[in-house]
Amino acid sequence: MKLIIASNNTHKLIEIKAILGSHFGEILSMREAGIEHETVEDGSTFMENALKKAREIAGISGCCALADDSGLCVDALNGGPGIFSARFSGVHGDDEANNDLLLEKLSGVEDRGAHYTCAMALVYPDGEELTAEGYLYGEIGTERRGSNGFGYDPLFVLPERGCTTAELSPEEKNAVSHRANALHALVKQLEEK
Ligand code: IMP
Repeated sequence: MKLIIASNNTHKLIEIKAILGSHFGEILSMREAGIEHETVEDGSTFMENALKKAREIAGISGCCALADDSGLCVDALNGGPGIFSARFSGVHGDDEANNDLLLEKLSGVEDRGAHYTCAMALVYPDGEELTAEGYLYGEIGTERRGSNGFGYDPLFVLPERGCTTAELSPEEKNAVSHRANALHALVKQLEEK
């Protein structure tokens, strides 16, 4: 069966293909499938947004569609920026400004606990839906460290490893990431189906 990933992000595609590869005959990005579509992400949870994207792409393509929505949840910010992670500072995708704002909001704050969340939704053309969530727990540092990854990685410290997720290699991060954890939970459901 063909699976369309509701994303054109190369890093996500490689990660998803590595974990789901053996469960589908062919895995294509939207671009590879010739689909141009922008979902309005107006859900109030990560899962609502992931399901909306996957349902729309399954409807347009007539194939299975997988979508994810992820973000950073900071304890001292009551779970924020959450679904607003990409545009925390006001400009969508401005990682530098988002990290500056995060440092500012946590200035002098002792509780640095945080986690990444990833919601994955797999929608079949007949309407069947499988969903899973994955998490990665850590702390928000007081200064940027590392140059790998993206988004909040330079500030996201894994205390047990003594480094940020921006100091991990892509392979090391993929082994522990919220996306990988959500994908493995989805694979478990596929295998039990
Ligand atoms: P997306 O849903 O994967 O596009 O993620 C939305 C936003 O959450 C990104 O723009 C980042 O700000 C943040 N985010 C999600 N996953 C990660 C990650 O693995 N590292 C750093 N930031 C992330």
